[in-house]
Amino acid sequence: IEAAYRERTPGSAKLAAEAVRLLPSGIAHDARWLRPYGIYAARAAGCRKWDVDGNVYVDFFGGHGALLLGHNRPEVLKACQEALLEGTHYGSSHAREVRWAQLVQQIVPSAEQVRFTSSGTEATLLALRLARAFTGRRKVLRFRSQFHGWHDHMTSGYANHFDGTATRGVLPAIAESVILCDPGDGEAVRAALESDKDIAAVFVEPTGGSFGMVPIEPSFLALLRELTAKHGVPLVFDEVITGFRVAPGGAQEAYGITPDITTLAKIVAGGMPGGAVAGRADILESLDFAAMAAKGEEKVQHPGTFNANPVSAAAGIAALKIIASGEPNRRANALARDLRDRLNAILAEQQVPWAVYGTFSGFHIFTNPDGRTIDPERFDPMALSWQEMKKRDGALSHRLRLALLVNGVDISGWPGGMTSAAHDEESLSHTCEAFREALRLLRRE
Ligand code: PMP
Repeated sequence: IEAAYRERTPGSAKLAAEAVRLLPSGIAHDARWLRPYGIYAARAAGCRKWDVDGNVYVDFFGGHGALLLGHNRPEVLKACQEALLEGTHYGSSHAREVRWAQLVQQIVPSAEQVRFTSSGTEATLLALRLARAFTGRRKVLRFRSQFHGWHDHMTSGYANHFDGTATRGVLPAIAESVILCDPGDGEAVRAALESDKDIAAVFVEPTGGSFGMVPIEPSFLALLRELTAKHGVPLVFDEVITGFRVAPGGAQEAYGITPDITTLAKIVAGGMPGGAVAGRADILESLDFAAMAAKGEEKVQHPGTFNANPVSAAAGIAALKIIASGEPNRRANALARDLRDRLNAILAEQQVPWAVYGTFSGFHIFTNPDGRTIDPERFDPMALSWQEMKKRDGALSHRLRLALLVNGVDISGWPGGMTSAAHDEESLSHTCEAFREALRLLRRE
């Protein structure tokens, strides 16, 4: 597989060789790491991207989830072009940020007020700070296997340090302020909230870790809502992936459960850099100069050079206007359901004991690391613990990704991916053929 990959990608190999001398691992995002090297993209359109060697790929990486409408959706592109010609940065407020916030407020149920950030990591950082300021408490309760960006409070319990100790480079005192519970363990949350009166916020990825790679039941969200309300602890839905994706108003709309604070990024900025914290006006009030002065309280600080960048705002407005109808979401969700079914049928036909699962527009490939016998048709991801769901054969996932790349399909390292509204029957049937061929290649090695 690796030989076939190298043969198809000499241009990427050359760039990667230069890159490793400059960029640690040759990359800019941990999730883009691939052995022997990842492809170097040259352009993208719709549901496809091309590498520097001219190979074309059906893209399920989807800009790390930012591209519900696919690459270069004409309306979004046009909005960006118009904005670019008017200037890339004003250092002032501008009309587009008001329109953008209005759309977020109209679409996201919990969004009484909105504060723009430059990324999802910044959104979860600000959400936590606001929750602390609001409650006067210090700690955060999170769930193992769930990802909320890379700032110091969010690194343990995701890829490692499941015992809650500090990851390398993070102060132990910060790790000690993070309480980790198992996803779905309502009793642990209840006990923590009852015994510890220093918890400022509960953070949850509302469809489960990594967009449902480790799924949770909606009833668990309802329980979190009930418990946090009882204890006066702000509930934060991290909708950086699910926001504007699973439904226009995100998981909170899909499940009918409204959090106190919502963190947004990715789709909110239409494929450009950007993020937002949305939520209760009395919580976001801590950012308000006049309100805090009137109360004689210190304002919560939140600067950020690229917050509400005008080009990001233009892209966000164009994307959210299209998404508000719900049509792109329905389409992406239906395509993913179809893809999951078809990939499972291929696994059954080839008697490969893996399973493809997921909800909404996501799909995850459970490569069954223990080799236990499972029936993909009866596979229930809820029946497995987060440890089993996260445990995967890294080498096998890598080879699967390479084998799919060789056959013109790019998936993420979960392994799995996300559909967009720009995928179509042709791209799905190509993907199924590629999956069949990739399984054959893996078997041959
Ligand atoms: N929260 C979730 C649920 C995410 O998926 C991500 C990014 N994958 C983040 C936060 C961090 O967002 P960003 O990469 O924009 O910092």
